[in-house]
Amino acid sequence: MRTSPRSLILGLLLCLALTGAGFSSAYNARPRLVVVIVIDQFRGDYLERYRDQWGEGGFRLLLDHGADFTDCNYDYANTRTAPGHATLLTGAYTNGHGIIANEWWDPQKKATVAAADDDQTKLVGVPGGAPGASPHNLLADTLGDELKLATQGKSRVFGIALKDRASVLPAGFAADGAYWIDRATGAWITSTYYRNQLPKWAQDFNDSKRTEKYLNQDWKDSQGNVLRSTKPVEGKTGNFYDVVGSTPLANDYELEFARELITYEKLGNGPATDLLILSLSANDILGHKVGPDSPEMQAMAMAMDRQLAGFFEFLGHQIGLANVWIALSADHGVAPLPKAAAALHLPAANVPGDKMRAQINSRLSARFSHPAEYVKALDYPVAWLNPDAFAAAKVNEPDAERDVGEALQQAGLRAYYTRSQLERGDAPNTELGLKYLHSYSPLGGWYVLGVPPPFIVGFMGGTDHATPYTYDTHVPLAFYGFPFQAGTYRTHAEPVDLAATLASLLGINAPTHSIGRVLTEALAPPHRALNSIHGLDDRGMPTVDGRDFRPEGPLAGSTMARGPR
Ligand SMILES: [Zn+2]
Repeated sequence: MRTSPRSLILGLLLCLALTGAGFSSAYNARPRLVVVIVIDQFRGDYLERYRDQWGEGGFRLLLDHGADFTDCNYDYANTRTAPGHATLLTGAYTNGHGIIANEWWDPQKKATVAAADDDQTKLVGVPGGAPGASPHNLLADTLGDELKLATQGKSRVFGIALKDRASVLPAGFAADGAYWIDRATGAWITSTYYRNQLPKWAQDFNDSKRTEKYLNQDWKDSQGNVLRSTKPVEGKTGNFYDVVGSTPLANDYELEFARELITYEKLGNGPATDLLILSLSANDILGHKVGPDSPEMQAMAMAMDRQLAGFFEFLGHQIGLANVWIALSADHGVAPLPKAAAALHLPAANVPGDKMRAQINSRLSARFSHPAEYVKALDYPVAWLNPDAFAAAKVNEPDAERDVGEALQQAGLRAYYTRSQLERGDAPNTELGLKYLHSYSPLGGWYVLGVPPPFIVGFMGGTDHATPYTYDTHVPLAFYGFPFQAGTYRTHAEPVDLAATLASLLGINAPTHSIGRVLTEALAPPHRALNSIHGLDDRGMPTVDGRDFRPEGPLAGSTMARGPR
């Protein structure tokens, strides 16, 4: 079935042209394009907080005309960018997809590796032949991979983000392309995993020096006050990622590239449903610096609302919104700026993670009478251990991890889970215990996941995420498109439900390790019979009773309760 006689294809095309059914009947009335928008660091409460201020056609396209799940939380502890993006498109947590962090210490390579790094590939689009990126660390496949399998490659799948991990991991193994930027220059790049040179349209985009119009700009709020400037720092080579990346101009830049990709790759005009994953990175770059409650973050969200409205209008002109499904979520939230939370008498503080690592290393050096870097990296609240140092002190993995965990507790963390413990599935049968089981990965050598007190941030400037608490786990989850029944759904939802729901509606297999639930309560009338048992009234409108639709009983809330898949 992989190849068909040319005459058959011609006949089919003629038939489609005559019936006027065009694309839709070529693939069972599925959408021509699915766009998954991931906002990097966007908390679930923002959509409510600014509800009265959103304009027409941006977030409100999803809030007023789509299915909006207000209580969507990650059910794991390692709320970082790489795991979050992997989770959304694999429909699995780290114990399924393997991506535990943005970076970890690799004991074999004796080096810190990043989640999407791949020495077997090279960067494409910048000179120098530096190592590139690929999804090779993923232990599960993605929604795009399943779409590719189901259509024998006819669907096209692309990822776009300022960060490689946010582009490569969600796009998956079979993606046609994943693009991100060279941090110094802002040029769009990819890796030899996908292709050996940029497509002409992308090369033309870079050659047209479009980065220049984003530099030396003032970002102003609605009153005309200058919030930030994108003037490169004098004497420094312009670092596009930091300078432009922490303003809404970065979203304009990404969306400009996304429009070009859609146009030149003719997304939505192929023989099968195409998929674009667009991760908007600027929110995270700014959010770490100023915190979620600052006027700048509000202005960033307002700008994004207008930018999305413009992008959705483009999709309407280019493909027709009736032929597009849109899903919106985020890879994680963020803690309030400790200074702001402490002012409200919450027990919030910045603590120096780097000093903590030095203290732990000197304590262990004294204990084993053998000075060494026992903890190679402390990306608070996670410690990456150095097996060589422990081996020299004749300490095995379980003991080493327990020693480091105890040291973390002495440094102020509430508890800890070790890699060897999680590998055995040894965690208390509690909501928190389950979050840590979901955070386990066989990748990353020896490690200890510390359980931090809430509102404690592991570095001295700004704020962070990477905890199991709601400020980090609560993210938006909203869908727009023909199958969805517009409404606000306060039922239990998780980011893993995104891939499961879209796969079901596309009529394809869910990704290999998906544990997501199909969000049946949000599906439009053809599915009403199914919905009627799930708290919808006669008109198919959801009843707002906060019910959790997972099976009830002693296992509710555990992995097994999510069904036999
Ligand atoms: Zn992120």
